[in-house]
Amino acid sequence: MANVWVIAEVKEGKLKKVTTELLTKGRDLAAKAGGQLEGVLLGSGVEALAADMGKFGAAKVHVADSAALKDYVGEAFASAIAKLAEAEKPGIILIGASVYGKDLAPRLAAKLGAGLASDCTDLGVDGGKLTVVRPMYAGKALASVTFKTDIQIASVRPNLFAAEEGAGAGAVAKFDADCGDVKVSVQGQQMSGGDKIELTEAAIIVAGGRGCKDPKEGNAWQLLEDLAKTLNAAVGASRAAVDAGWRGHDEQVGQTGKVVNPTLYIAAGISGAIQHLAGMSSSKCIVAVNKDPEAPIFGVADYGIVGDLNTVLPIMNDEFKKLLA
Ligand SMILES: Cc1cc2nc3c(=O)[nH]c(=O)nc-3n(C[C@H](O)[C@H](O)[C@H](O)COP(=O)(O)OP(=O)(O)OC[C@H]3O[C@@H](n4cnc5c(N)ncnc54)[C@H](O)[C@@H]3O)c2cc1C
Repeated sequence: MANVWVIAEVKEGKLKKVTTELLTKGRDLAAKAGGQLEGVLLGSGVEALAADMGKFGAAKVHVADSAALKDYVGEAFASAIAKLAEAEKPGIILIGASVYGKDLAPRLAAKLGAGLASDCTDLGVDGGKLTVVRPMYAGKALASVTFKTDIQIASVRPNLFAAEEGAGAGAVAKFDADCGDVKVSVQGQQMSGGDKIELTEAAIIVAGGRGCKDPKEGNAWQLLEDLAKTLNAAVGASRAAVDAGWRGHDEQVGQTGKVVNPTLYIAAGISGAIQHLAGMSSSKCIVAVNKDPEAPIFGVADYGIVGDLNTVLPIMNDEFKKLLA
C-alpha cells in the first residue's frame, strides 16, 4: 500500500493550480496503488487551505503552520518534509515542476535518498509502483521511468491534468516542522510581474521573438500584448528577445527559460531553435506566425501562418474578438 502525497504550493493565500491538478491525478494514482491521497501544507496562515486540498480529494493533510515558515527557504522546507516522510513513509510524493518544485524536489530526494524523476509529463501506477514519462534531449525523446527506492518522487509539469473536485475529508494532521540548522533567512521579497498571468500556469501563451524587433523600432510587442489581452493569455518571449533587453527574463520560454505546457501557444517571429522548442513543444496546439516558410517552428506547429506578424497579429486579434464577443 503506497500513500500518495501532494506537496502544496501556495501563492497569495491560495493553492496554486498545479497543486489542485496533482491532487486530481493523485486520487487516481492512490486508488491504483492501494493507498490514500494526502496533502502536505507548509507556510504561515495556511491551515484553512487543508479544506481546499480536501475538496480535491486529500483524505488527510499534514499541516505545519507557523510564522517561521512564512517565506520559502529550500533547505528548511526540505528538512521538515523529509523528517515527516521518514516517519510517515509515503510511497509517492508529487510536486509541481514549477520554480518552487524544481528547487524543493531534488533537495527532498537527496535528504530521503529517494529516486526523483523531474519535469514529468505523465504518471501511472504499475504493480503498486509509480511509472512516469519524462522528456529528454530537449523534448526529442521520451523516457519511461520506474523507481528502485521505496519513496518515489516526481516533479510534474503544470497544465497536464484538469483539476476536478473530488470529495476528501481533508482531515488536518498538524506537525511541528523540524527545519534543522537553516543557514539562510529571507530578508525581503520583491515581486516581479504584478498581476501578470504566470507563464507556467497559463492556458494560452502569445510569445514573440527577434522578429518582433526592438520596441523602439515598431509596435509589434504592443500587437502581441493586445492579442494576449483578448485571449486572456500570458506573454512569452524567445531568448533573443530577452537578451536584447526587449522583454524580462521571467517571460523567457525554453531550455534556459521556463518550460510551458499551455493549451494554445502562439509563436510570432520565433524561428523555432531547438532550445526554444525545449520549453514549449509539449503545448497542446501550436500556432506559428513567421514570414520565412522554411522556419523550423513550422515543423512543430499545428497551424502555420506564413506572413508578416505586423499584418497577421491584428487580423488574428480582430477575429478572436469577434469569436469571443
Ligand atoms: C545554451 C543555450 C540555451 C538557450 N536557451 C534558450 C531558451 O531558453 N529560449 C530560447 O528561446 N532560446 C534559447 N537559446 C537561443 C536559441 O538558440 C535561439 O538563438 C533563439 O531561440 C532565437 O530566438 P528567435 O527565434 O526569437 O530569433 P531568430 O532565430 O533570429 O528568429 C527570428 C524569426 O523571426 C522571423 N521574422 C522576422 N521578422 C518577421 C516578421 N516581420 N514577421 C514574421 N516573422 C518574422 C524570422 O523569419 C525568424 O524565423 C539558447 C541557446 C543556447 C546556446
